Amino acid sequence: MLLLFDIDGTLLLNGADAHAAAVVAALCEVWEVESPQRAHGVEAAGRTDQAIARDILELAGVPPEQFEARRDDFIVAAASHYERLVPDDLSDRLAPYAGEVLAQVSGQERYRCSLVTGNIQQVARLKLGAAGILYPFAEGQGGFGSDSDDRNELPPIARMRAGQRWNGGDAWPAERTVVIGDTPRDIACARADGALVVAVETGPFSADQLSEADVVLKDLRELEAALGSLS
Ligand SMILES: [Mg+2]
Repeated sequence: MLLLFDIDGTLLLNGADAHAAAVVAALCEVWEVESPQRAHGVEAAGRTDQAIARDILELAGVPPEQFEARRDDFIVAAASHYERLVPDDLSDRLAPYAGEVLAQVSGQERYRCSLVTGNIQQVARLKLGAAGILYPFAEGQGGFGSDSDDRNELPPIARMRAGQRWNGGDAWPAERTVVIGDTPRDIACARADGALVVAVETGPFSADQLSEADVVLKDLRELEAALGSLS
C-alpha cells in the first residue's frame, strides 16, 4: 500500500512559520513587491505554495500571468530562503504519534511511504529533515507544491513516481494508495484520483468537516488499524 502523507497539520503542527517567511521573501525578491502586509488573509490550509503565492501577489497588485512567467524563479528563491530560515530542530513540532507511526509503517514491506504536500519539494525535505522524520521518504518520491499549483494533480504524480521505483514502471494503482491529510482539500485530491483517504483532526478542521474521508482519526495513533480496515 502506498501511503501519501501530507506534512503541515498531519505530520507537523505549527511548523510553517519559517516556511511562510521564505515564501514572502521569495515574492519580494522575484517580483520586487513591498513586504505584503495582507499575506495573512490568504488561506493556506491544504493549498499549494504556488497557489498561495499567486494569491498574495495578486493582493499586492501583480496579475497571475506575471506569476506564471516567473514561477520557476519563485520556486528556486523560496527553497533557498527556506534553507536559510529553517530552524535547526523542528522535532518539537511533530504531530502526536507522528514519529512512532512513521517508525512503525516504514519498517514494513507492505507499506511504501511517500508524500503529497503543497510544500515545494526542497522545502518539504528540509522541513522533515529538521523534524527528524525524513528517513522514510526516498528522494525523488512524492507529489509537491513545486510540481503543480493544483493539489488534485499531486496524487497521480506521486503514484507515477512510486511506480517507477516499486512497480516496474507502471503507475502505482490508485486503489492501493491512501492519502493521509488534515483538510477537505486532501480528501478532494484523493477522491479526484480514485485513492483512499484517512483524515486526521490535528489540523484546523473538525471531524464533521472531514466526514467525506474513508476514515477520520483524532490523531495518527490509530493509523495502522485504519489502514488495516481499508485493505
Ligand atoms: Mg495539511
